[in-house]
Parts: sequence; C-alpha cells; structure tokens
Amino acid sequence: MPMRLTRGWIEIDLDAVVRNARAMASRTPGMLPMVKADAYGVGAVRVARALEQLAPWGYGVATIEEGRELRDAGIGRPIVLFTSVEVDELRAVRDAQLTPALASARAIARWASIDGGAWHLAIDTGMSRAGVRWDKVGDLAAELREHPPEGAFTHFHSAALDDGSLAEQEMRFERGLAAMPAAPALLHAENSAALARREHSRWSLGRPGIFLYGVPVGGGRIVQPEPVVSLRARIVELRTVLAGESVSYDATHRVERDTRIATLPVGYADGYRRSLGNRAHALVAGRRASVVGVVTMDMTMLDVTGLDAKIGDIATLLGRDGAERIDVLDLAEQASASPYEILTGLRARLPRHYHGGE
Ligand SMILES: *Cc1c(COP(=O)(O)O)cnc(C)c1O
Repeated sequence: MPMRLTRGWIEIDLDAVVRNARAMASRTPGMLPMVKADAYGVGAVRVARALEQLAPWGYGVATIEEGRELRDAGIGRPIVLFTSVEVDELRAVRDAQLTPALASARAIARWASIDGGAWHLAIDTGMSRAGVRWDKVGDLAAELREHPPEGAFTHFHSAALDDGSLAEQEMRFERGLAAMPAAPALLHAENSAALARREHSRWSLGRPGIFLYGVPVGGGRIVQPEPVVSLRARIVELRTVLAGESVSYDATHRVERDTRIATLPVGYADGYRRSLGNRAHALVAGRRASVVGVVTMDMTMLDVTGLDAKIGDIATLLGRDGAERIDVLDLAEQASASPYEILTGLRARLPRHYHGGE
C-alpha cells in the first residue's frame, strides 16, 4: 500500500462504481452519468475512464472547467453542462465542446449564432431552479423550430419521497414536450432516486449520480449500490487521559475514568465534519471506537480504551474493517448533513487511492 507516509487518505473502488452504474444501466435505454463536482468528490476523470467500458451516451457536469477537465483527459463523448451559464459564456462552452442546457430565446439564438452545435432544452417542472417553465415552452416555438435541440430534460425535486410529485412533474414534462414543434431525439429526467424506483425508465437517458458513488437513495428498498468510498487514517498519537480531564476544544467531552485516547491526523478541513465529534465512530482493529470531543481542523480523537491500538495502526472513519462498516448515510445522519454534502466535502487535501476500474 502506498499510504505509509500519508496522514489520512480516501480509497475509491472503481469496480464498485462500474457495478453500480451497470445496475442503473439495466433500467434505462441510455446512460448520462453525472460526474459533476469531481464526481461527487470521487474523481471525475477516473470515474469517467472507468465508466467508458459501459459506453454511456455521455456525461453530465456542472461547470465549464469540469467539462474541460474531461476533454483534456481524452473523453470524447457528449458532455452536458447542466448548470445555466450566462450568454457571454457560451463561447467558452462551445470551445470546450460541451452541450449546454438552454432555456431562453436569447441563449438559443446566441448558441446558434456561434455555431455551438447540439444543445438540450431545460424544462422546469417544479424544481424552480433552472429551465423554461413547462407551460411556457410554447413561447420558444420559433427558436425551437429554427434551431431544434438534440434533447430535452427536466429534474425531479423529490424523487426519493412518496409524495406524488414525480408523476406530477412527468405530466408537466409531457405537456412541455407537446408544446415543442418536434420531439427531440433524447429525453431525460431521472436522477438516482427516480431510476431506483422503477425497473424501466420512461425516457431515453437516465442521469444517475449519487447511486454510482455508493449511496442508497429512495428509501433504500429497491436496488442497493455497493459502497465506493473509504476514509482511513493512521493513529499518530496515543495517550492516557486521567479521570476528570477533558478532550478537545470547549471541553465537550470529560472522561469519567482513565481513558486511552488515540489521535488521527484528519479533521474538518479534510471534510470530516466538526459536528461528528461526540457522535460518530471509527473502526480500529475491526471494533468500534467513539469519536470523543469536537473534531478539530486537522485532528480527531478516539476513545480506544480496551482496544488493541498502537501508533501507526489504521483507523477507518468511513468504510469497512472486518465485520463492521460505517456508511456515508451513517455520517450524514450523525453530522445532520445530507449524504451529498458528506461525499462532496471529502477534500482534495486527502490523497485518493484508486483500485479497479480497468
Ligand atoms: C445532480 C443531478 C443529477 C443526479 O442526481 P443524484 O440524486 O445524485 O442521482 C441528475 N440530474 C441533474 C440535473 C443533476 O443536477
């Protein structure tokens, strides 16, 4: 293992990403895996290269830079830029050979005037974030006739909930599509939670994100992804803290009896949230150890009393050790955060070690 010298690190199982993508791919005619935000912190270039073996239709990103990074890495498939850009940025979108999501007459006209190429129409069916309202698509009929898009899509706001909103949004999406002069070749709507809900997509492309990176969505009752990300660190300090003494800032944890405290060189600046202090666990030698005191910027303390822990031993903050496992969902719950925030928060300061994906 190349981790001897590092403080803490992330391990990424690219084979698990590919298997998770396969599970999603079996539910939809085509795949548009979302690799925005550096593939949710997992590494966009490595993920896209691994997913090439599944020959997805294309990839989804959120910024021009993210798209450029994939182009520079030799990814030749379509890359859809889902976040709205200002009209003045469209040249840069074209130069990076990205497919923008457009929704205004002005943007469509500009894209055509600079010979941008393929684009997708973004239809807002209730997310109220981006796109043309489903009941206003007809206002763009002239532009759509003159510069027909390759695709049209919408985005669900509550696909993991059983609130009927998904059906409502799909009805609106259909109304928006019906107002187009011609139906585009590619239609897409489903994120991970929506894809997990149904065995067969109604649309031509699925847009899974978080599922690929190992986090179950949609009540967890349908398809389950394999975990992808582990976070580990070596114990760099071990001390006995005497009864009555405290651990970490603000003395939020006071030990009742003499306690063995191990220090890990990973903290909230690495994305291991401050709020995990006094709530989360780590795995040491296959057993659970409580995180005690608040997590500091660069270090985290564990109660390892009674465990066989030595300096240099590996602690697992996320992932599997023996029969025990800590999931992204566990950390999200303990940190009162969403699993998306936990994943994307694992910072670049942590070296990433990849396996599989070939
Ligand atoms: C992020 C995103 C997705 C993927 O969502 P997950 O919940 O991670 O599957 C799909 N479509 C769009 C437009 C997105 O922004």
